[in-house]
Amino acid sequence: MNTEASQPFDVYNATLTELEQLLHNWQQPPFRARQLYRQLYVNWIDDLAQATDLPAALRERLAQETRLGSLELVHTQHADAGMTRKALFKLDNGAVVETVLMVYPERATVCISTQAGCAMGCVFCATGTLGLLKNLTSGEIVAQMLWASRELRQINPQISITNLVFMGMGEPFANYDRWWAAVERLHDPQGFNFGARRMTVSTVGLVPGIRRLADAPLPINLAISLHAPNDALRSELMPINTRYPIAELLAATRAYISRTRRRVSFEYVLLNERNDTPELAAELATLLRGSRTQPPLLCHVNLIPWNPFPGTPLNRSIRKRVLAFQQVLIDAGIACTVRVERGVEIAAACGQLAGHTQLKPTAAPASLEIV
Ligand code: SF4
Repeated sequence: MNTEASQPFDVYNATLTELEQLLHNWQQPPFRARQLYRQLYVNWIDDLAQATDLPAALRERLAQETRLGSLELVHTQHADAGMTRKALFKLDNGAVVETVLMVYPERATVCISTQAGCAMGCVFCATGTLGLLKNLTSGEIVAQMLWASRELRQINPQISITNLVFMGMGEPFANYDRWWAAVERLHDPQGFNFGARRMTVSTVGLVPGIRRLADAPLPINLAISLHAPNDALRSELMPINTRYPIAELLAATRAYISRTRRRVSFEYVLLNERNDTPELAAELATLLRGSRTQPPLLCHVNLIPWNPFPGTPLNRSIRKRVLAFQQVLIDAGIACTVRVERGVEIAAACGQLAGHTQLKPTAAPASLEIV
């Protein structure tokens, strides 16, 4: 259950069955585990003392031998009149990750990290310069959602989180098993009960992960970071393209669509005069529109205004170029929106999640909002 061997057992790493086993070993009746599970995932307790339906002796033993999450909240920042909130958490190994909550009048989206750092090295993303610092445990992924839920309860108790996007730090498919364990725990109707159709996972294009997701038992939405319509440019921007070039990526995407009948989102970050020309927009439209032998892809393109980070030679596309790029795609019959930005002033917008802290200088990307 808990892979962090030197640390007390993190209860967020356990399924209900595993909690039942733990409490069974402590000679507790099975219903105690269900009570605890409800406290964790229905009441969202942040202190075991709040689980007042458990006997005091059991609460005490839990407090001594387990821990309620392993994320240490370092700070939160607010923007957009408090409607965007970014939390920075420290992990056991000293690395940090960030989580962003975006609140709207009738909905709320949370953007969650699955790794600290990242091994993928995309040039428009500062995290890529860090290398991989840690694969988050399922408990560390789940705990971010619980933080966001508690935060939202304070902001507006009338609404709950409507969308969960795995678009924070890291590549979810490079941490597939732990990420999936978190998905199952958050989806569990006996616990947090979050609908799978309201979850979206974003990948740099790890083809084995896409194929695995196509066969997965829960209907998680898929977003693919594309960022270029040809291999030469994409390999310059995203080294993973040399391993899984566009043809292979689109073949896996087609297999996913055909298997799930779900529409895929292609993310396209716009870099001034690098990947934002009308010619590249036309090439992208041709790629996605299909051919005589291939039907059009059931897809949507999300254009993301890029946000610079210190030390990068890249520049953000000017608005006029963003709109011109979008128009080419729309004229070609491709559904295309420009992502609304949130939290720019607290470095919480797309490409800005940076883990800037007194602890360590880190940087990470984020695709923060599905529109
Ligand atoms: S954009 Fe995503 S996959 Fe690429 S380096 Fe950054 S975190 Fe990793």
